[in-house]
Amino acid sequence: MPFGLDRLLFGTAGVPNSTPKRSNPIDGIRQIAKLGLECMQLEFAHGVRMKEEVSSSLRKESYELQIPLTSHGPYYINLNAREQDKIDSSVERIIQTAKISDMCGAESMTFHAAFYMKDSPYDVFDLVEKSLNVIEERLNRLDIEIELRPELTGKTSQFGSLEELVSLAKSINSCLPCLDFSHLFARTGRYNSYEEFYGVLEALKTDLGANILNNMHIHISGISSNAKGDLKHLNLNESDFNWKDLLRALKKWGCRGYVICNSPNLEIDAAMMKEYYYSLQ
Ligand SMILES: [Zn+2]
Repeated sequence: MPFGLDRLLFGTAGVPNSTPKRSNPIDGIRQIAKLGLECMQLEFAHGVRMKEEVSSSLRKESYELQIPLTSHGPYYINLNAREQDKIDSSVERIIQTAKISDMCGAESMTFHAAFYMKDSPYDVFDLVEKSLNVIEERLNRLDIEIELRPELTGKTSQFGSLEELVSLAKSINSCLPCLDFSHLFARTGRYNSYEEFYGVLEALKTDLGANILNNMHIHISGISSNAKGDLKHLNLNESDFNWKDLLRALKKWGCRGYVICNSPNLEIDAAMMKEYYYSLQ
């Protein structure tokens, strides 16, 4: 278990907005500590580049401040691309994210695995599964131990439904779901009540074993959506997403792990969630 993962930890997707120098992730992690938050996600949305001295300082700082890191791979990944070279470069991007995340000391990384491209979801599943097996094998050979967490995606055109992620986690050792509950709501128009959140967690426990609830990687933000899924991330107070009942359900099940906030106001909503969570009996 990564250090500090004895409870739910609240943090931001990327460097907090209030960080004096936002381009510096080391300043970001210090700002997280200053704000009383507990973890931070490195966002490699537009490419996986980091100087070695930055990743080793991040690792050190993360350990000293007891602020664990997670990471998010580039958006430009599609394990179901039409051209084989695009699939290959998607595999490389995931491996590169894993390498850098590992150097930074992150033990869990998420990414958007694929688009359906109007193919049958079953065929896409098989392709994604095949690529993840290749990735796992290569990471093993590099001696990199990291959780590969395909994200529960917000659009119906994107691979990554709750059911798909559970099946992947069953078939691939180092694979676990990254549960973006706001996306789940946007994608389905359901899962926005205490009973539904409670039921999702119960089903995860049944399908993947009790340990899944002790080691979670969760995303929460406000969100707007239409019939095709998510449109925009919003601040929690501007959205219908029922985050309070979600936190109640997480508390009820005694869940542990990372709660990464990706509302536009990042640390404000992360702190609000943390405060509410700790007010629960
Ligand atoms: Zn994402």
